[in-house]
Amino acid sequence: ESLDRGLEKTKTSFFNQLSKAVVGKSKVDEEVLDDLEGVLVHADVGIDTTVKVIKRIEDRVARDKYVSTGELDRILREEIADLLSDNNSGSTAVLERPDNTGAPFVIMVVGVNGVGKTTTIGKLAHRFHSAGKKVVLGAADTFRAAAVDQLIIWGQRVGVPVISHGMNTDPASVAYDAVQKGVEMQADVVIIDTAGRLHNKVNLMNELSKIKRVMQKVIPDAPHEVLLVLDGSTGQNAFLQAKEFTKATEVSALAITKLDGTAKGGVVIGISDQFNIPVRYIGVGEKMTDLQLFDRRTFVNSLFS
Ligand code: GDP
Repeated sequence: ESLDRGLEKTKTSFFNQLSKAVVGKSKVDEEVLDDLEGVLVHADVGIDTTVKVIKRIEDRVARDKYVSTGELDRILREEIADLLSDNNSGSTAVLERPDNTGAPFVIMVVGVNGVGKTTTIGKLAHRFHSAGKKVVLGAADTFRAAAVDQLIIWGQRVGVPVISHGMNTDPASVAYDAVQKGVEMQADVVIIDTAGRLHNKVNLMNELSKIKRVMQKVIPDAPHEVLLVLDGSTGQNAFLQAKEFTKATEVSALAITKLDGTAKGGVVIGISDQFNIPVRYIGVGEKMTDLQLFDRRTFVNSLFS
C-alpha cells in the first residue's frame, strides 16, 4: 500500500506553508521561527507541542550559531519523529499477546459517536480477516440502534461473526459473549465496540470498567488493547476527547480517522506527544481498505515530500 495515500491535503498544505515561511531566507532566524510556529498551529499540531518544537529548534540554532533554512527540513523531520510516540508498528506486533495461552487478542474500541468508530472496526476486521485471522466482533455499543445495525452490516460485508443482543441490552454481557465466542471458535482477535457517551463521565467510566471486568472472567489479561478512535478533522475537539477518555480508562493506542478530508494532519503529532500514546492506525477514507498502519517515519517523510 502507498503509505502516504490519503494524506495529500495535509501534505500539500504543510509543505507549501513551510516553503513560504523560508522563501528568500538563508538562515533560520526569529522571523522564520515565528512563521514556522504559525504553520504548526495552523496544521492543528496544538499549542503545547508547537511551543516544544519551536523551543527545540531555537536551542539548536543557539548551539550551532547558524542553521540554514535548507537544514530546517531535516531538523524538523527529526524533531517531529521524536515527538511521535514509538509504536513498534508492523502488522503482527499488533496482535502479539503477553502470554501464550492461545486465547484471542481482545481489542476494546472506545470513542464518541460520529468519529468513525464503527467504520474503523469494520476496516480492522477486514484487515485481520484478509490476513487469514479469525475475527469476532462484539456489538457492545447498545445505546444506539444504528451502531448495532451498522456493525452487523460490517460483519456481513467482511464475512465475520458479530455477537449482538440488540439495542439497550447490557454492554458487558455482549462483551462477555463475544469473548466467549472468540475462545470457542479459537479466534485470533475479538473486537468490542463500546458506547461513547461523554456527557456522563462517571457512567462512561463505570461502563468501560464493567466491560473489562466481565471479559476478564473469560480471559484474565483482556483487553490487550484499548483503542481510542479520534476524528482527525476536529482539531481541538480531538484533544479534549483524548483527555476525557484517558481519564476514564487506560488507552493503549489511537486510531485517527478522516485524515483524507483535512489539511490538518498535524493533530496526529500533537495528540501523540501530549498523551504519550502511540498512533496505531490512520483512517484515510470510507472504504474497507482505507485504514493504514501508522508509521511515524513514513508519516513525517510524507509531510515534507
Ligand atoms: P461512529 O458513530 O463513530 O461509529 O462513526 P461511523 O463509523 O458511523 O462513521 C461516521 C462517518 O464517518 C461515516 O459516514 C463514515 O463513512 C465516515 N468515516 C469514517 N472514517 C473515515 C475516514 O477515515 N475518512 C472519511 N473520509 N470518512 C470516514
